[in-house]
Amino acid sequence: MLTIRNVSKAFGDTPVLHDISLEVAAGEIVCLLGPSGCGKTTLLRIVAGLEQAGAGQVLLEERDLAGVPVHRRGFGFMFQDFALFPHRNVYDNVAFGLRMAGQSREALAGRVREMLALVGLAGLEARQVHELSGGQQQRVALARSLAPHPALLLLDEPLGSLDRTLREELMGELRRILRQTPAGSDEAAGITSIYVTHDQQEALAIADRVVIMNAGRVEQIGAPLALYRQPATPFVARFLGMENLLPGQLVDAAPDWLVATPLGLLRSTAGPAGAAAGDSVLAVARPDAARLVDLAARDEENLVAGQLQEVSFRGSQVKITLSYADSQRLVFDLPGHAAGELPAPGQWLQIQLDPAGISLLAR
Ligand code: ATP
Repeated sequence: MLTIRNVSKAFGDTPVLHDISLEVAAGEIVCLLGPSGCGKTTLLRIVAGLEQAGAGQVLLEERDLAGVPVHRRGFGFMFQDFALFPHRNVYDNVAFGLRMAGQSREALAGRVREMLALVGLAGLEARQVHELSGGQQQRVALARSLAPHPALLLLDEPLGSLDRTLREELMGELRRILRQTPAGSDEAAGITSIYVTHDQQEALAIADRVVIMNAGRVEQIGAPLALYRQPATPFVARFLGMENLLPGQLVDAAPDWLVATPLGLLRSTAGPAGAAAGDSVLAVARPDAARLVDLAARDEENLVAGQLQEVSFRGSQVKITLSYADSQRLVFDLPGHAAGELPAPGQWLQIQLDPAGISLLAR
């Protein structure tokens, strides 16, 4: 539905986007994910028409949007730039775009009611926006942007201003709301959305596909689970919270991947396409791959013994840091109940790594 083709952008002499290409299908939720300053917002603003690309094209259903001003693109926005009117009531805020489109009073009232029900604010029409909580205000902003049936919804850190608990709550709900909002003529599919965030959890929870950006370039595009299972680069692995990157050499490739690492031989269930025995790889042991085993256990696969350096209890999880080979460290998240079985820092313990929790990257 939307095509971003070879888009580049510089501010003065500073390049911020390098040759970005991306296709967004109808009904899809695509998240742009990356660290602060990697160019996510700039790319979104180019799609919106708020910023001009230095090179490349943005096409909506094959039509080049160059020269089409923001208000003629028919997109919905949930941006800091498009804040709510704080001294108007909920109804007037949600009705704003519909009034601009010249809708009749009845059609307008019906649509506002429908949108408020969708975002869980039915009955709050008369409330002033400044009397609402932060989370409720974000719901009003979402209802306002969805009300005029936008062809495409653009969201820039929509949950950024909320505290952690509210964010978690809205994260799950946002996906449901976007899925349930019929897109224009197609009643079956949800609305097509591009969503910018720097929060990996938010992107994984909301997106159909995640675009991981680094310094103005696309590092990897994939479905959340696919990215998590098979990060393509060390940057992606680290950005998704995987700190255990071990250099290694393939001893055996598909279907039974075996890699020699400083921890010994490790078995993994997947590896990079086309890789063969002898190739250098990076083994990524995900934080959730470990389980505690008896220190006396032997002759089983993927056993790792190390000295316990740190233990940090986080409720449902306990984060452990192990050291091996003097200075190297490994960090894992065990289920919270394992905290009771852990030895004291300084003592040795043994873990076993699930082969499905180890990804191999080509080097
Ligand atoms: P954040 O999450 O912090 O908003 P981002 O990934 O969205 O980061 P952008 O806002 O797109 O990043 O910014 C990319 C780079 O371009 C940054 O280095 C930023 O300082 C720079 N930049 C953005 N807008 C402008 C502008 N109008 N003029 C000059 N430089 C800009």
